[in-house]
Amino acid sequence: MMSSQASPVKVFIRIRPTASFAHELIECLPDQQTLKVRSRKDSNKAKRNNQLSSWVFQLNGVLDNVSQEDTYDRTARSVVLGAFAGYNGTIMCFGQTGAGKTYTMTGAAETYKHRGIIPRALQEVFQEVEHRADHTFSVHLSFLEIYNETMVDLLSSMKQGKSSNSGVLTVIEEPGAGVSVKGLSLHLVHNEEEALNLLFEGEMNRIIGEHALNKHSSRSHCIFTIHIESHSRTLSDAKYITSKLNLVDLAGSERLSKTGSEGQVQMEAMFINKSLSFLEQVILALADSRREHIPFRQSKLTHALKDSLGGNCNTVLVANIYGEATQIEETLSTLRFATRMK
Ligand code: ADP
Ligand code: MG
Repeated sequence: MMSSQASPVKVFIRIRPTASFAHELIECLPDQQTLKVRSRKDSNKAKRNNQLSSWVFQLNGVLDNVSQEDTYDRTARSVVLGAFAGYNGTIMCFGQTGAGKTYTMTGAAETYKHRGIIPRALQEVFQEVEHRADHTFSVHLSFLEIYNETMVDLLSSMKQGKSSNSGVLTVIEEPGAGVSVKGLSLHLVHNEEEALNLLFEGEMNRIIGEHALNKHSSRSHCIFTIHIESHSRTLSDAKYITSKLNLVDLAGSERLSKTGSEGQVQMEAMFINKSLSFLEQVILALADSRREHIPFRQSKLTHALKDSLGGNCNTVLVANIYGEATQIEETLSTLRFATRMK
């Protein structure tokens, strides 16, 4: 008897472009699903003998030298379209700071051409809304930041906010309605342009908050959520269908060096390590059919995503890595995390 079922998560690796020598270290096999990594062994004897260690990782896909457009098509498109069939979806970028999470999720701010998954998802959502003339749609956005287990509304200052801005945000669960974040503002948007304006407003607020609190953006998780509600125009008794798409830029996964960090930095690292390990526990538990209890409530991140992970949802993890040999330790640690999720 099988004790576990297939993982509820599709896992992709994206390699940040590097000088060509790096490809001697990390090699993407022609199947585009296998990564081979080689590195010098640490011990002196091994170094003298020029011994190499090598590892092989199997993923759902490897994105090596792949454009923003193709990255969207391979990782995100089906999840976005799934939302129109009523399936919640979550796409997360994981990896050490500088590996390309924000580039993958949001893109290069200066150029529309290099826009990431979020702007492309918004474009696709409004295209679908236009094509499906037999339904009425409403699209709302929210933008949540989680820093040291405290939730911050990145769009709270916007006037058209629907919910209260009471300050303290809490995750609540209501029977039949799934989870939501009480106090988080929801913003009705009618087109791609309005939506992009809100995305950039939220990004700005994230940066302003950074300066105020003297923190770095790579230390927080950000969840950009597209809430889609639809109703048939032709069937008089049709129910409203709601779904959510969560586009998540996770905090940097790098380990702190043991020396030289203290106070705030150490505290941030502790919160990040814990929440990433709780995320892993939840995903592993979801993959294990014997498990009845899934520990969603151990962290704000997993609790807020409770109705959008596993089960009847489409979940994608994009693990971002450097191609450079100097980053090999963090790269291996990211690849191990990614492979455990698969
Ligand atoms: P992270 O969010 O993981 O800390 P960033 O997304 O900010 O990392 O990426 C770090 C730098 O590398 C940025 O200047 C970004 O534009 C660049 N970069 C990352 N991935 C790519 C890529 N696939 N192609 C081109 N530039 C990239
Ligand atoms: Mg970033």
